[in-house]
Amino acid sequence: ATKPYDDDNIFAKILRGEIPSTKVYEDEWAFAFEDINPQAKLHILVIPKANYVSWDDFSARASDSEIAGFIRAVGHVAREHDLVEPGYRLLANVGHYAGQEVPHLHVHLFGRQPLGPMIA
Ligand code: 5GP
Repeated sequence: ATKPYDDDNIFAKILRGEIPSTKVYEDEWAFAFEDINPQAKLHILVIPKANYVSWDDFSARASDSEIAGFIRAVGHVAREHDLVEPGYRLLANVGHYAGQEVPHLHVHLFGRQPLGPMIA
């Protein structure tokens, strides 16, 4: 089962404006900002504004509106950055095996370079 949401996680603090981030997009459902330790020429994190621990928690608990709003926001960020051609990658780590570090759902968006094989 998914752990309860921790209000003190670093992305919760970013959403509350308690620690700074480089914002690239924001709407009703989502907030997007640059990863502090980029793994590609472009590395953005897109997070829902509501509190979900992971993709698992989100897909199980979020309303249809939240899910639609968040997924549309991810697509919007990619289009806004002109990534659709030549392409980009989305990634969401869930839990221990995937090495999820921050317990607030985040979708990694990588682009601006060839991205190599899927599994690191
Ligand atoms: P995970 O391993 O949980 O999927 O990814 C966590 C990501 O958050 C990592 O890519 C890491 O560089 C990024 N990150 C961790 N702390 C901060 C922070 O304080 N600010 C920003 N912008 N990114 C962070």
